Amino acid sequence: MTISQLARANVLALEPYLSARRLGGSGDVWLNANEYPLPTAYQTHAGNLNRYPACQPPGVINNYAAYAGLSPEQVLVCRGADEAIELMIRTFCEPGQDAILCCPPTYGMYAVSAETFGITRRTVAALPGWQLDLAAIEAQLTDVKLVYVCSPNNPTGNIINPADLKHLLEITRGRALVVADEAYIEFCPQATLAGWLADYPHLVILRTLSKAFALAGLRCGFALANPEVIQLLLKVIAPYPLSLPVAEIAEQALSAEGLVLMRDRVAAITDARRDLAQALSECDCVLEVYPSESNYLLARFTPESQAFKALWDQGIILRNQSSQPGLEDCLRITIGTKTECARVITALRALPVAAERTRGEVL
Ligand code: PMP
Repeated sequence: MTISQLARANVLALEPYLSARRLGGSGDVWLNANEYPLPTAYQTHAGNLNRYPACQPPGVINNYAAYAGLSPEQVLVCRGADEAIELMIRTFCEPGQDAILCCPPTYGMYAVSAETFGITRRTVAALPGWQLDLAAIEAQLTDVKLVYVCSPNNPTGNIINPADLKHLLEITRGRALVVADEAYIEFCPQATLAGWLADYPHLVILRTLSKAFALAGLRCGFALANPEVIQLLLKVIAPYPLSLPVAEIAEQALSAEGLVLMRDRVAAITDARRDLAQALSECDCVLEVYPSESNYLLARFTPESQAFKALWDQGIILRNQSSQPGLEDCLRITIGTKTECARVITALRALPVAAERTRGEVL
C-alpha cells in the first residue's frame, strides 16, 4: 500500500483551509489575516524550560475570567480559537454519526475541522443582510451536535441579531450546543454573549488574543462555557497546550495595563476603519462597502477592476472572498496602519477600469 492509501478517506478528500500564510504572496502591505498591523512589546523570563508548564496556567485563567466577567471554572485556555473549534468537535461529535451546522458566508475552519474528524458538515445559507435563517436551521437540526455562529461574522463584519441568537439557543436547548465565535468581540464589546452563560448551559463562546490583543503569533485562545462543558473539554485537550513563554505573555496581555493598551488599539482601529470605509466608497471600482463591527471591511468591487490581482501584483495583499456564497467580487481588507490604508486607496484609484468607468459615465 502507498502512504496515501494508508491515509483516512476523509483526509484524502479534504480540501484544507487555506490560511492567509499558506496562500503566500509577496509584498509589504499585509491586510489579509485580520492581524493588528504593529508589533507589541512583551517580556519573557521563562528560564526553567526543563519543566512542563501547567495545563491551564492559573495566571492566564484568572486574568481572562476577570476580563470576561466570569469565574475561572468557566474558562479554558488553548492554542488559539482554532484549537477550541476543533476541541468542541472532538468532545461532542461522534464520527460517521453526528453533524455540525454553520451558516455561510462565514469562517472556514468550522467546516474543515468537522471534515477532518469525519463529522458531517451541514450548511444553512445566511439570509440577506447575513442574519440567521432560523426556520431553515430548525429544519436541519437532526443529528446536529454543534451550531457554529460567528458574531461579528468573518468575513462580512456584521453582528448577529441578539434576538435571533436567543431564539437559536431556545430551539437547540437539550439537543445541541451553540458555539458563538467572538474572535472579534473586542471591537464591539457590548455584543458579547458572556452574560448569557448563566441562562444557557449549552452556550460556548470562543475568544482569542490574535485580534484586538495584537498577538496572532502567540497562538492563544479561549473557550468560555459552564463548568460542565469546560470539564469535558479538559478531558480532550493536549496535556500541555501552552508553552511557558506563551502563558507568560498572555498573562501580561490580560493584566490591567494590557487591557488599557488593547482598548487604545481598538479605538485607533475603529477610527481608521471609518476613514477607510469612507475612502473606499469614493473609489470608482467599489460597488459597496458593508458596515463592519470588526477590524476589517468587506467591499464589493466591479468585476472589470480585477482589484485583488492588481493590488497583489503591487505587494498589497488582501483576502479574496469570491468563492464564498453571495460574495462574488468581494474582498476583505484588514484595517492596517494609516499608511497601509492610504496605499490601498492610492492603488485602487489608479486602476485603469476606474478611469474608463468615469469616462463612460461622462460620455
Ligand atoms: N474565528 C474567527 C472568526 C477567526 O477569524 C479566526 C482567525 N482567523 C479564528 C477563529 C482563529 O483565531 P486564532 O488565531 O485564535 O486561532
